[in-house]
Amino acid sequence: MLNILKINQSKDFYRYVQEHNLIDPIVVCPNPTIADQVRSQFLKMSSSVESVTIAKFIRDQLMSLEVEELSQRYRGKSELMVILGAIWAKLGKEKDYKKFKKAFNLFTEIRSFSLSEQVLAAVLENYDEELGETVIWIHRFIDQLNIIDEHSSYFLLSEMLRGQELPVDYPKERIIIFYNFEFLTGSQVDLLRSLSLRDHLYIPIFKNVYEGCTSLDWPSWFDQHNTQVIEAGQSFSLPEELPTFFYPKGYLNKFLHTLSLKDQALVLGSKDINRSMLQEVPNRLIKYKAPLDIYSTQFLAVTKEIEEKLKLSSIPIHEIRDFLQAEVKQGILDKKFLKIKCILLLLNKINYWAELSDDNIEITHFEFLLLKEATSLDLPRLNLTNLKGQFEGELYHLGQIENINHQQSLMVFSSHYQGVSMGGSRYTENVEQYLGAIGPLRRSEFDLEILKAKFHEYIHTNTVSLVLEEGLLEHDLALNNMLESFHLKNVPHALTFSKTQYQFSSWQGEYQLKRLSASKLQKFLDCQLKFYLQYGQRINPLIEYQTETSPIDMGVIEHEVIEVYFSHLPQGEFDAELHQKVCIEVFQKHAQQKSYDQLETEVGLLEVRTYTAQVIKFLIALQSHYGLTYQFEKSIQLEKEGIQYEGMIDCFAEADTKVFILDFKRSNASFRTFKMIEEFEQIQLWFYLSRIQELGLASNKEIVIGYIDLSNIENTTFFGFDEDSLKDLKQAMSLSKVKYLGELDEKLKHYADIEHKAIQSINSLKEFVAMPSDIKVCHFCGINKICAREEASDASS
Ligand code: SF4
Repeated sequence: MLNILKINQSKDFYRYVQEHNLIDPIVVCPNPTIADQVRSQFLKMSSSVESVTIAKFIRDQLMSLEVEELSQRYRGKSELMVILGAIWAKLGKEKDYKKFKKAFNLFTEIRSFSLSEQVLAAVLENYDEELGETVIWIHRFIDQLNIIDEHSSYFLLSEMLRGQELPVDYPKERIIIFYNFEFLTGSQVDLLRSLSLRDHLYIPIFKNVYEGCTSLDWPSWFDQHNTQVIEAGQSFSLPEELPTFFYPKGYLNKFLHTLSLKDQALVLGSKDINRSMLQEVPNRLIKYKAPLDIYSTQFLAVTKEIEEKLKLSSIPIHEIRDFLQAEVKQGILDKKFLKIKCILLLLNKINYWAELSDDNIEITHFEFLLLKEATSLDLPRLNLTNLKGQFEGELYHLGQIENINHQQSLMVFSSHYQGVSMGGSRYTENVEQYLGAIGPLRRSEFDLEILKAKFHEYIHTNTVSLVLEEGLLEHDLALNNMLESFHLKNVPHALTFSKTQYQFSSWQGEYQLKRLSASKLQKFLDCQLKFYLQYGQRINPLIEYQTETSPIDMGVIEHEVIEVYFSHLPQGEFDAELHQKVCIEVFQKHAQQKSYDQLETEVGLLEVRTYTAQVIKFLIALQSHYGLTYQFEKSIQLEKEGIQYEGMIDCFAEADTKVFILDFKRSNASFRTFKMIEEFEQIQLWFYLSRIQELGLASNKEIVIGYIDLSNIENTTFFGFDEDSLKDLKQAMSLSKVKYLGELDEKLKHYADIEHKAIQSINSLKEFVAMPSDIKVCHFCGINKICAREEASDASS
């Protein structure tokens, strides 16, 4: 028999178990955290229960039913991906990883409704043909290989429980409670129905949630004749009003500092807690536990180099193993234990893949992406906590409110949080109609009703005040719905502001140009006011965090690493050991002026290593093709008509007949299109080129100018004035972005005209107006929040 326990609060469930003397219940929970909570709640009541996750419960049942070679046949998601990917590749199918993954995910989703190929085919009629064929292919292979995956394990157990041939000692009449499931898939509902034929199943559901169910929601999918509904709830009253502190957007941290958090349960109105949310809370004395992702950056760094190589051609598996093993050795020397863990997991997955077939001796880009994804599923999940000892209060998120009892509590809502809205259906109307006829569908309204019921319990059990960002209720409909039955009583607080509104539209003043650099000129061409604020008034608001690396810091460090590397080894092959040493030395030198924590240092160093390694390799290849000599940070100085022209070229490369003028950037924001350079929107390279010509530093030599993107070498863009030699450059360096600019003299004449007019304008203006050349210029301007700028078109729109 299946018993629906209609509860008003979670306590009703615990009380029911005690009062009705439910002996030795097995409580099945959706995840380990809830299973732990249930166990400790029963312990507080001096009784113990077997509290397990649904995954463990299913496995235990199948084992006790002696399903033939279960452990050999069961495959988790990551293993399944690798097996299917290996077969896919072996059959010579198209090695498009994104398409394969999309098909795999769709297959897994539909499988939660039914294992039938007929159902699958009917749903797939609504998707594109190629995707549909791939999904069917995956389905057939899993069938042929006799694999048991998560969903088939539910159906398999259901079938066995309905059959007549269960072992005689297989238990029955057990008390099994399925607790705290927000959603049950069709396969899970089917299993519960089968279990209820032999055992006593209990499913606690909040009364309002149960009574508000539609035919799409999972509680409506149980057999009426074998289900009884039990009123297990005790009603309680809710306060009519909730004391509420309204704080201005962006001032949560400041506001929380005005409160005493002593003996408070602080609840963040989000489904999870991340690092940036923690930083907003004055957390010195707060006990918390938040998920911490410390592996993914290391993992991406470990895989990136292999991935890049695999884009060119496949690699024998022993070479990849050798590479990874060498990285492990280096990791041991450098004490990079996170990195070592990532590599070992990846090696495991590679070994597993190799064992699948004797033909698996080379890895292609497609297979590596599969192995990478499968490994990432196995990366350890860690939590960050505060070990300070004496805590004044405790931090929770929305998923934990039912564990807060009899406390003073503050519940905080901010527009930065994920909020209370839940995920809705991902299917098209047709697919939803079809799937809704064969199994339950997830509805955001249903999820919200569950959250509301838990919120009411929390309000009832604790003394709660809300901390609400001003204006949030008007934008967040789900939050509005959750709070609509309460009057939010405004509580005055100690945070006060006297608001002054500044509006800049122009600044009256004059500027006499005595020195000119490329960045100064660029700033004027971008916006007169921005130029005048920086150079005329010396106002250049720049916030620097002592504990965080800024983009400017990173740019300076990366430029320096490249320069120092070539100063040690001006020519020859890439020396990884030297590069590593230079990265550490240069980074540490800059870090001495800051106070980065270990994570910031690790992440910063990782970027420096990754970005500079690829650029150095690129420069080495360029050098060996043309026989270049490099000068880094080449200073240019020239006086002309009373103005001192000055600049520093990141990389000036020279050979007998060639000169390269190169600039390093950390993104391609200033050279996304050829037009930006060709039509002088960005003048830096033209400024350098003009000075080099005027100084006679490239007489009779062919000149190439260009940007090297440190973050992605593929964005590197070169421009030149000789079509044939540009073709050679493009081919030799495998560049996709190379542009012929036409006649050098003509272009320089055009640029000189722009430069001349800008200089005249700077010297003659009496008022500098907020008039950006492109709205993107304002994104990086320190006064963009208070600037009454004139209209500018967004080039991207
Ligand atoms: S916000 Fe835009 S318009 Fe205003 S000064 Fe800055 S760049 Fe110029």
